Amino acid sequence: MSVKQTTAKELIEGYFPAFIRDLEEITNIDSGNGDPVGTEAVAQVVAAKLAALGGEAEFRRNDRATHTIVRFKGKGGIRILMIAHVDTVFSRGEAAKRPFRIDEKNFAYGPGVGDDKATVIQTIYAMKALKELGFDEYGEIILYFNGEEEGGSPTAEGIVAELSPQVDVAIVMDTARPDWGIVTQRKGSANYEIKVEGMEGHHGNASQSAASAVMALGRIINALYEMASPLPANPADYTHARLKEQGIQDHGQFIPENTINVGIIGTENRRINVIPKDAFASVNVRCFKVSEQERLDAAIKALADKTFVPGTKVTITGGIKTGPMEKTEQVQRLVDLYKSIVKENYQAEVVEWVAGGLTDGNRSAKYVPTIDALGVENYDEHTDHESVDLNTAVPRTLALTLFIQETARRWPL
Ligand SMILES: [Zn+2]
Repeated sequence: MSVKQTTAKELIEGYFPAFIRDLEEITNIDSGNGDPVGTEAVAQVVAAKLAALGGEAEFRRNDRATHTIVRFKGKGGIRILMIAHVDTVFSRGEAAKRPFRIDEKNFAYGPGVGDDKATVIQTIYAMKALKELGFDEYGEIILYFNGEEEGGSPTAEGIVAELSPQVDVAIVMDTARPDWGIVTQRKGSANYEIKVEGMEGHHGNASQSAASAVMALGRIINALYEMASPLPANPADYTHARLKEQGIQDHGQFIPENTINVGIIGTENRRINVIPKDAFASVNVRCFKVSEQERLDAAIKALADKTFVPGTKVTITGGIKTGPMEKTEQVQRLVDLYKSIVKENYQAEVVEWVAGGLTDGNRSAKYVPTIDALGVENYDEHTDHESVDLNTAVPRTLALTLFIQETARRWPL
């Protein structure tokens, strides 16, 4: 007689009450960005739970946070990195003011409950499921819990750059989107500083032995906007709410390919009748493709060699800071696998989002195929009414667990 094997679904459904207790525990610990005590406290709770499952924890500390790396060794080949974060955007005292609570719709509230604490707990229960299923067909699973994601940090960038080359696939467990939304493309970012030196002069005698740095900067700004992708005709028609009215689900499909923002401009000149001898601008450029980042980088730097106003000199410094999370063919195969798992188990369609904002996925994508936003679905992050939809906790945890198993079995994809 055969004994019925417990399925991953049954196991994970059984974890749900413990999932809630653990989420309550870490949500009620203030762990704001820049708070070394709070992030350490959450890191210790998370590391202890993973150590109980056989994970080997390592801590990296700086004066702002504790970063946690936990490694699980298997008997197979594939190596997987999962990235989540334990810091929040809230200050000390916030958890006491509005502690963890659940409403009648099974939505949970509390500081950082969805961004990113529910997802941190999700990774723990995915690892627990893999262990209790006896699944070890991976070489290594590395979990990295960033302690200072909200605000960026050289420490975190260094850790992602260090861990990514040690794996074959990266999964970013942050900023989950509604209705099985995942993020499959993110823009990379570049910054430029533009300085124009001109020749000061009396305005009444303009252009005789004077050259306006502001005039040159104006022309450069025009040239920059010419390089950007066209914007939607009337931005008011493309807000999330307006699209919804028309029955269009906004999943980032209207975000222009390459965006250029001249965010700061100025001159030291303070007199209206003086031709300014200096002008400056700070520019941020975002692109979905490495090739476009590189093309624009060269085009923007080449502006320094053009004469916009005779007698002015243009200096452009800066460059590409972070690459995009590009959807390569291998990423598409991972996405297709995740979609098929969700379809089979929940008869649902996964929606692919594109995003102009950055996550650690931008950094891992430089080294390995990366899939993003596989966490529990959350809303209104960074606000005092942030919530996480606990109805998605079991489905998203099951999908993650099966995705790890299937990717491991089929690797190389
Ligand atoms: Zn986050």
